[in-house]
Amino acid sequence: DALSTDAEVVKRESESIKAFRTKAEKFAFQAEVSRLMDIIINSLYSNKDIFLRELISNASDALDKIRFLALTDKEVLGEGDDTKLEIQIKLDKAKKILAIRDRGIGMTKEDLIKNLGTIAKSGTSAFLEQMQKGGDLNLIGQFGVGFYSVYLVADYVEVISKHNDDIQYIWESKADGAFAVSEDTENEPLGRGTEIRLHLKEEAGDYLQEDKLKDLVQRYSGFINFPIYLWSSKE
Ligand code: ADP
Ligand code: MG
Repeated sequence: DALSTDAEVVKRESESIKAFRTKAEKFAFQAEVSRLMDIIINSLYSNKDIFLRELISNASDALDKIRFLALTDKEVLGEGDDTKLEIQIKLDKAKKILAIRDRGIGMTKEDLIKNLGTIAKSGTSAFLEQMQKGGDLNLIGQFGVGFYSVYLVADYVEVISKHNDDIQYIWESKADGAFAVSEDTENEPLGRGTEIRLHLKEEAGDYLQEDKLKDLVQRYSGFINFPIYLWSSKE
C-alpha cells in the first residue's frame, strides 16, 4: 500500500545520504568531473605528493585575489588575524587529518557549488583524454582541475569556507559521485578564507609526519609569495 511505499523511499533516501550532514543540500558532480575523481581516487600513481602543490597554489591564488581587492578597498581585509595573508598547514595525528588553511578570498555557497563540482572546465575532458592515453597525472594543474588531486591521498574531504559576501559553509565529498553543502554551525568561524581538511587514506599516513611535510613545503613553495606555517598536534 501507499504508506509502506513512502516509508521505503524515505528509508532508502536516508541510507544514501548517511555520509553527509543531516541538513546538507546534496548535488551530483558533473559527469566528467565524477569520472575524473573516480580515476584519481583509485589511482596507483606513485607521485601522490603533488596534491600539496595544488593546494598551496590554490591558497596562494585566493590570497592574491583578496590582496588585489584590498588595493582599492582596504576594508575587505577585515581586522586582526584576518589581515594576515598567510597559509597554515595543520596535522592532526589522532584524527589523521591534514588541513590547509588560507586567509584568501574564500568561497560563497554558490562558488563552492560551481567551482568544486557542478561546472566542468574545458580542461576536464582534455585531462581525461590525456589520462586514457597514459598521460602523466602530474600535469593535472595545467588542465585547471588540480583541486581533485586531493583524492590521491584522501577518501573524504571537507572544504570549509568564508567569503566576505556570505556566511560560512562546508562542502564535503567522498568522491562517490555526490557532494553536499551545508551552513557551518560546528567549526570555529574562519573570519575569512578557506580550510581544506583531508581525511587521509589508510596508506597515506606518511603525510602526518612533520619532516615529510617540511620537505614538501620547501619543494613546492618556491614561487609562493606568502608565508607558510606548519602546525602539528601531539600524537
Ligand atoms: P584552478 O586553480 O586551475 O582554477 P583547481 O581545480 O585547482 O583549478 O581549483 C578550482 C577552483 O576552486 C579555483 O579556480 C577556485 O575558484 C576554487 N578554489 C580552490 N581552492 C580555493 C581556495 N583555497 N580558496 C578559494 N577558492 C578556491
Ligand atoms: Mg589550482
